[in-house]
Amino acid sequence: MDLLLHDLVNIESLTGNEGRVAAHLADVLRARGFTVELLPIAPESPRANVYAYLGDKRPARCLLTTHIDTVPPFIPFSGPDAEGKVYGRGTCDAKGAAVAMISAAERLVAAEQVKAGDLALLFVVGEEVDGAGMKAASELGLRWENIVFGEPTESRLALGHKGILLLRLQAKGHACHSGYPHLGHSANHTMVIMLSDILKLEFPTDPLLGPSSVNLGTISGGEAPNILSPSATATVSIRVSCEFDAVKRATLGLVAQHPEVSYEIVAEYPPPNIQSAVPGFDTINVGFGTDIPFLKYHDGPGVRKYLYGPGSIFLAHTSNEHVALADLETCAKGYMQLVLHCMSTSPTP
Ligand SMILES: [Zn+2]
Repeated sequence: MDLLLHDLVNIESLTGNEGRVAAHLADVLRARGFTVELLPIAPESPRANVYAYLGDKRPARCLLTTHIDTVPPFIPFSGPDAEGKVYGRGTCDAKGAAVAMISAAERLVAAEQVKAGDLALLFVVGEEVDGAGMKAASELGLRWENIVFGEPTESRLALGHKGILLLRLQAKGHACHSGYPHLGHSANHTMVIMLSDILKLEFPTDPLLGPSSVNLGTISGGEAPNILSPSATATVSIRVSCEFDAVKRATLGLVAQHPEVSYEIVAEYPPPNIQSAVPGFDTINVGFGTDIPFLKYHDGPGVRKYLYGPGSIFLAHTSNEHVALADLETCAKGYMQLVLHCMSTSPTP
């Protein structure tokens, strides 16, 4: 596994530039006996997801999936150090998961525990920016009953993750000399009042995922100290742990009370439904988002989704990103166990 991880990490694959790593992964999977398709995410796009399966059975009961793009900057592979840790961009987010998934699939095939139609692997582009790869995979017309997503969860099953409501707000004012404020009105004042109202909203808490939370990520506006501000913008992101529709209604209702403010919804999805009760697995509460919500048509009864992978999210996106080789082995076994669990039980409707 460490050799494959070495190669994958050393192929730079910042979001948008996943072509070489996808081609390499396709070669690796073909050499291991899988049927492999490189699936462009749009007609003529050089960016392609990698889909691998057994024999000629394209649909499969179980899917192991993760992403092959990374955040910048590229950091080459190094290690292992004395503690068996390997370093570099993507080691834990999420090329380590990809390597553990491939190893799990190989071992299941070798032990004849899976056959054609049981298992497929999907490696997507674009998770770190907009989920473009997973959105494209939704349009393949394939349906999987069991889907295991790989992200750094410290080798534990995630209990779920929060949804998001991301708004871009724009307030319009009327500029004038600040010595005569009755002649205009300040977009900055409007924005500050509205944002402080948003901070006063009481958002629901989920018993598993904890409280929903608000972040006023960016605020800007105004031209000079002696001019009433003609315009102001802000972005507000709300991590929603439950009651997504109610949170959205309350927030947009408040915005609507200020006719001089317009809004754009930049991103929105409710907390995805994830399974976490599998014998033999510890669980973890995670605060990050994934591209699980972008896999459409896989909600509701008859479909189970899991989130599980090696490494820690606290190392992902840092200059110290690393994973322990022992954790890759733990997760390879964990992925095998999850596949076997899914094959031997059926989802409760
Ligand atoms: Zn990731």
